[in-house]
Amino acid sequence: MVNLSNYKKLKRFAALFLIGLLFTRSQTKQNTQWGFAGHERINEFAVYLLAPELQAVFIQHLPYLISQAVAPDQRRYAVEAEAARHYIDLDHYYSKSQDPFWNLPQNWQEAIDCHSEDTLQAYGIVPWHVVRMKYRLQKAFETQDLTRILKYAAEIGHYIADAHVPLHTTENYNGQLTNQYGIHGLWESRLIELQAAHYNYWIGKAHYLPSVQKEIWAAVRASHAALDSVLIFERQVSAQIGSAEKYSYEQRGSVLTKVYSRKFCAAYHKSLNGMVERRLRAAILMVSSVWYTAWVDAGQPDLSQLKLEHDPKTESASEDSLQKTSSRWKQRSCH
Ligand SMILES: [Zn+2]
Repeated sequence: MVNLSNYKKLKRFAALFLIGLLFTRSQTKQNTQWGFAGHERINEFAVYLLAPELQAVFIQHLPYLISQAVAPDQRRYAVEAEAARHYIDLDHYYSKSQDPFWNLPQNWQEAIDCHSEDTLQAYGIVPWHVVRMKYRLQKAFETQDLTRILKYAAEIGHYIADAHVPLHTTENYNGQLTNQYGIHGLWESRLIELQAAHYNYWIGKAHYLPSVQKEIWAAVRASHAALDSVLIFERQVSAQIGSAEKYSYEQRGSVLTKVYSRKFCAAYHKSLNGMVERRLRAAILMVSSVWYTAWVDAGQPDLSQLKLEHDPKTESASEDSLQKTSSRWKQRSCH
């Protein structure tokens, strides 16, 4: 039986699949969530911000950390629970003039008590999943299991990056509700493809985060706050440029592919006034800081002698299945 959660996931990814066909996904690996290029760049630059003890180990495995930055997207059709980990449809939880977070507990168990796990899964769980992944990464550091350290580090980088994308915080994730179909790939893939080489990557150093939970919710809040601009400016620039010049065709491998034109992208990117760069930089800093925090919370183990037991890509997917939660707390009174 298809429950609400499964139906929403199917609908969302069927839509993204179609976008992929319409634009570039099937021809190139550049256009998916944050674009593959965006995810890879975020994990790569996060390594450069690390404290020397941690960086010394991570840099040895840089190709793995970069390539596995997209692993969660690659398995989302195979692992049923995967899809919900990449977004949160905040608009489901509030109506206009309300604070989007007024009825959304940051604590997973409290959120379940408030809304039911089915509802949370149906509308996305990215902030809660980042907290869970940080805990797994910390455990991997504690047990000095390099295979899992690398796997969880690479993958938490993906989820943190997704949480920094405004369109990952709304049911209107691809502009389908506002007649702006395709905006998802435009913002997080096409603009990155054309502009990211020009961004400033002097970001600072990873720092300790007293509460990863607070930080990831702050990131989601900032993403959602940028959502109106993402949609409004696309509409304005579309009107200025006109439909004839909004799209063009570019060669992708052997295929001539319809894409947002360079002229349109330049104008849209300019109208966003640095937003994509700011979200990318914030994601890099947070990924690096969460890696560092997990290591500090694990007691700063010496990693210099660790060896890989086996290829992290073959690591069991057993932990990918969500832990069923029992109601350990009394029913929380919700708004
Ligand atoms: Zn994703």
